[in-house]
Amino acid sequence: MAYAVPTVKPDPGATPEMSVRDKLTLLGGYIGPHRRLLAVGVLLGLLGTAAELATPMVTKWVLDGLSVEASLRTPVVILGVLLVAGTFVGLVQGIMLGTLAERIILATRTGMVRHLLGVRVRELDNRSEGEMVARVTSDTLLIREAATTSVVYGVNGLISVVGSLVLMAYLDWSLLLVTLAVVVTVAVAALLLMPSLARAYQESQAEIGEMGGRLSGVLRALRTVKASRAEEREAERISEFAHRSAVSAVRAVRLETVAWTITGAGINLAVMLVLGFGAYRVGADALEVSALIAFLLYLFGLTWPVMMLTMALTALQSGLAAAARIAEVTGMELEVHHARPDAELPTPDAAGSLELRGVRVRYAPEAPWALDGVDIVIPRRGHTAIVGPSGAGKTTVLSVLLRFLDPDAGEVLLDGVPYDRWPLRDLRRRIAYVEQDTPLVPGTLRENLCYAAPEAPEPELWRALEVVRMAGRARSLPAGLDTEIGPTTLSGGERQRVAVARALVADPELLLLDEVTAQLDGITEAAVAEGIRRQAGRGAVVTIAHRLSTVLDADQIVVLEAGRVRSVGSHAALLQSDTLYAELVAALRIAAAEPA
Ligand code: ADP
Repeated sequence: MAYAVPTVKPDPGATPEMSVRDKLTLLGGYIGPHRRLLAVGVLLGLLGTAAELATPMVTKWVLDGLSVEASLRTPVVILGVLLVAGTFVGLVQGIMLGTLAERIILATRTGMVRHLLGVRVRELDNRSEGEMVARVTSDTLLIREAATTSVVYGVNGLISVVGSLVLMAYLDWSLLLVTLAVVVTVAVAALLLMPSLARAYQESQAEIGEMGGRLSGVLRALRTVKASRAEEREAERISEFAHRSAVSAVRAVRLETVAWTITGAGINLAVMLVLGFGAYRVGADALEVSALIAFLLYLFGLTWPVMMLTMALTALQSGLAAAARIAEVTGMELEVHHARPDAELPTPDAAGSLELRGVRVRYAPEAPWALDGVDIVIPRRGHTAIVGPSGAGKTTVLSVLLRFLDPDAGEVLLDGVPYDRWPLRDLRRRIAYVEQDTPLVPGTLRENLCYAAPEAPEPELWRALEVVRMAGRARSLPAGLDTEIGPTTLSGGERQRVAVARALVADPELLLLDEVTAQLDGITEAAVAEGIRRQAGRGAVVTIAHRLSTVLDADQIVVLEAGRVRSVGSHAALLQSDTLYAELVAALRIAAAEPA
């Protein structure tokens, strides 16, 4: 089977529903800042069109001159000037529009990247990275075409068609009626095909989008895919999308070719009819030969403006869809960087601490509470470990502390001041965060270490590396600190240690650490513990603890269960008083006893 029959519908969420009017307004927004330049482009296009429209008339003039043996110099010179001027205007217009198009695309892309990095983390929760990347890279290309080419081609094509028709009417009414009969029939046939064509094209694009999403996901998990011997399965699954896209694309190609063939055949038919009927009228002395020739030139010339109009419509259609998709990205809610207007920054409380007071959070309006009235006091110094069964809300607590999430009720107080009165940047400057799967940012080891503290001097970096027992490894890298860290340069444990070292370099007032669940090597475990201990002596450390050693090390342990704080205390006290804690510890003990 060459192509699989499409069974899955293209993702309907790909292009948001929006009225054509709204989409046109969006597109207008891209043109707005450049409308003067675009107007000049349209004007130049009109000049070129005028030159083209005049050419058959001047040709007729030349031919008329032949029969009366008048001087041919003037019309020939005019013809020459028209050709040269038309070419020159075309050149200038092409360069101008190309430049304008690139400016629009540049502004759109930089704006989108800035916006994407500024949005609330939650906005991106259910979106694939591939989809977002495609919106920045390819949708912007579609906007470019729609905002420049389609406007200029549309206006020029229209003027050209109308102008040709008017001049044809001037040359001979009856021939024009014959032509119009054919042109209207052809246009109706072609227009009837347009919606199916657009649909086929969109379906093909949507399948490719899905293919990209799946492919990038699979490449990221390639080791798992291979270990599960799923290469064939995945290849087939991904190829399915390509197949379905090809089916739609082939349908689009067929429809498009049919449309073009109808157009071409229509023009040929019109030419034959005009030639026959025209010859008859010339024979009857109702028409000059030169007028017939000029008429035919206009008729031939109609192909190009019709083509321009079609291209303009196609570009406009895909551009409008892209504008809607881009608007979805630029409409994502940004993080609020400014403090509440009444904010008066507090004088830091000497005994300052971080406190969650009656915090309730949920992920969707109807969802159950992920945190349901949580009170936790985190002292300025020391290690607070959060433990609890999976789904208890541990990660959500960290998200609230980092202000990735705002509580629906209750508040978080830093130095006795509510979180929303702190400017976001000031707040995050005081916090370092070590994520569970410790993603390293693209770049060198040095860049990774300095990521939160770009000014940190080199000895600081080495000191942090010493604490996490990575100094030797860093020295052994081909370019030391300046080695580019690829996805496979460092082991999982080493990546974890680099992430902790980054937090140590930042030397934050509050270190949030989501411990990996994986049993990493003993050195990493000891190194991370050492990092936590060191930082707990200087500031507050909050960990989501997955290891017994981390729990035992903590000064205060918070037991979460189903979004509520169940108990708080030291290891010894909790072991006596809380059965859930005792169970959790027993499970950790078993995990610790098992070989890694
Ligand atoms: P833990 O870290 O203790 O395993 P979480 O804080 O991740 O728990 O989750 C607490 C609750 O919130 C769970 O019921 C979980 O299903 C829900 N939850 C967590 N993240 C999301 C999310 N992004 N969207 C919807 N629900 C979520």
